[in-house]
Amino acid sequence: MIPMVDTKSDLKLYEKEILKEVAAVIRGGEYIFGPKSKKIEEKIAEYVGVKYALGLASGTDAITLGLKALGIGEGDEVITTPFTFFATAESIAHVGAKPVFADIEEETFNIDPKEIITKITIKTKAIIVVHLFGLAANMDEIMKIAKEHGLYVIEDACQALGTRYKGKMAGSIGDIGCFSFYPTKNLGACGDAGMLTTNSLELKSKIIQLRNHGSLERYIHNTVGINSRLDEIQAAILLVKLKYFEELLDKRNSIAKTYYTGLKNILKLPEYIQSREHTYHQYSFRVEKREGFMEYLKEKGISSMIYYPIPLHLQKAFSHLNYQKGDFPKTEKISDEIISLPLYPTLSKTLQQYIINTVVEFINNP
Ligand SMILES: *Cc1c(COP(=O)(O)O)cnc(C)c1O
Repeated sequence: MIPMVDTKSDLKLYEKEILKEVAAVIRGGEYIFGPKSKKIEEKIAEYVGVKYALGLASGTDAITLGLKALGIGEGDEVITTPFTFFATAESIAHVGAKPVFADIEEETFNIDPKEIITKITIKTKAIIVVHLFGLAANMDEIMKIAKEHGLYVIEDACQALGTRYKGKMAGSIGDIGCFSFYPTKNLGACGDAGMLTTNSLELKSKIIQLRNHGSLERYIHNTVGINSRLDEIQAAILLVKLKYFEELLDKRNSIAKTYYTGLKNILKLPEYIQSREHTYHQYSFRVEKREGFMEYLKEKGISSMIYYPIPLHLQKAFSHLNYQKGDFPKTEKISDEIISLPLYPTLSKTLQQYIINTVVEFINNP
């Protein structure tokens, strides 16, 4: 079976180097926020083009602590997309604020700035944009709206390390950027890890406290925080992988290009947008007769996935928000039709071609 991602074969690309670095960390005896953690924070800040990057335990923590650092909580509303991984809106709920959803653009699957405007109330404090599947949201429009209404912007760039928007990196445009190094993300650790990026010194200091039980000085607690640490072993692994990261993005791009060339005549695929450099965290597009299509791929030994089958406004966990089916027609339609194909750096040319041929076979003879 061709998997959606192949973390094992991807790791082989630099296995020796990683094992050496991991062994050095274990022998060194410093396992949390050691020199490797500091280094990866510096490197990510430099790569994303921001002043500060702060290591955390996960991407979810980056969003949650980001909201907390901005002072968002009980009584506040935060606008976001209903078409994303659950963690985006879960974080809003975790700080006691109310997630308010706004429908997406059909072409990019990202939040629609025009829809954001209709959701702004006196209680709105922030917008969380998600650069879904590695394609940047319409940041110019969103930043303009935020400025006009005095709102903060958090970029959930958990799927979008390396994504560019008009030359700027995702995670460097809003007040805060959030990254995940979950193993299957563009830059994956061998475990959980995350990072928050910002240009604000004030936010940086707040995050440093919040990630360490509200403390800057040992046993002196200024506020109530959490434990969200960057593991030194993960930092060492990320440092090795970051060296090859642009090459890995090129590989992703080249696979996406191959899919596009092979399938553009029979399917509606994500178009290349000049100003928004896609990093293809997922290769997702819409199909009719999705069930039969997935079944056929499975018979032919090809994995496929639905990201995401249930939009967040229809999730049980948010039933108290009283959204109904039909509230976000574009999101709902796309959830019903979207599918993702395998895409990972070591996916061979032969397999890419086999996947294309199989898709063509089905589409021509459903
Ligand atoms: C993965 C992901 C997260 C959460 O990251 P974790 O590191 O798994 O906590 C948040 N938002 C989006 C869009 C994601 O894809």
